[in-house]
Amino acid sequence: MNLPITMKALQLQGINQLVPVTLPVPIPKADEVLIRTMATTICTSDLHDIKSNPFGIKLPGVLGHEGAGIVVRCGAAVKQFSEGMHVAVHPVVPCGYCVECQRGFGHLCLNMGHLGIDRGGTFAEYFVQRSDRVKALPDHISFPLGALLEPVANCLQAISRAGDIKGKVVFVVGDGPFGNIIARLALRAGAARVMVAGKEPFRLGMIPGAEVVDSNPVASVDVAILAVSAADAFYSCMAALRKRGRLVVFSLLKDAVPVDLFDLHISELEIVGCCNDEDKIEESLACLQDPVLNLSELITHRVPFENWEEAFYLARDRHDKALKVAITFN
Ligand SMILES: [Zn+2]
Ligand SMILES: [Zn+2]
Repeated sequence: MNLPITMKALQLQGINQLVPVTLPVPIPKADEVLIRTMATTICTSDLHDIKSNPFGIKLPGVLGHEGAGIVVRCGAAVKQFSEGMHVAVHPVVPCGYCVECQRGFGHLCLNMGHLGIDRGGTFAEYFVQRSDRVKALPDHISFPLGALLEPVANCLQAISRAGDIKGKVVFVVGDGPFGNIIARLALRAGAARVMVAGKEPFRLGMIPGAEVVDSNPVASVDVAILAVSAADAFYSCMAALRKRGRLVVFSLLKDAVPVDLFDLHISELEIVGCCNDEDKIEESLACLQDPVLNLSELITHRVPFENWEEAFYLARDRHDKALKVAITFN
């Protein structure tokens, strides 16, 4: 297959400076796959990166880490993929040899590579990924849906960090794409009740089976999941926990937040972190195909790459009508 030499991409050049550029098409190393991007979804963390670069991405860099497309070239050592296959990617690249990888915590790797952070991202016509982090997509899964492979895997991690939630009362704070997916997965995992708090009626109306609460529950939930980056949401979660309740911190709070350790002590509360996922790719792929979960309805907009500014506007400013926005390529 003849490939072009250059490609269009969106490069973050400074705070609030996302710029369309022309770059060389990357060349896959021996264990990598070159993918022609067909769809990439905008993650809340992309919006954070553009606004304040909390992860300290070395600039300029091509953002984007939720992607699906077609294999167009394989490195010499890649056996499991061939040109033309439909694939989605997991953006996290564990080193495999650090102490955390050795413990089985590749998602917390000390030398982690990550698409859109220290590796070229998916907001580009082509990108490469290490082949063990690439997953073949059945043809009936659309590329925009396939791009949700990693965000859904992350949300599965939130459910796993919550412990056994069968028959439990779960409170999700945050009505964005993550809160939505987590609420659906909590119901799938057998939670007796899932309550959701958020700010946008449109988004709150998009979580089938969950109860939308106007006033936050107090001292009555087994599990609270923080799915929005806001200190007041953290306190709502803490206040909602009953004795022995557990809070899963899914969304990042960059600034330190005071915690009432007295309350934590007398109520035997737990606060656990949640970052990336422990190889939930297989389960995520099953979720993408689960008709009850119906995750494709999360994708409210498919915007062609040339209209990328509209895509970011929708994802950032139009929570009244957009949930997950996919950028598509011809
Ligand atoms: Zn993401
Ligand atoms: Zn490692």
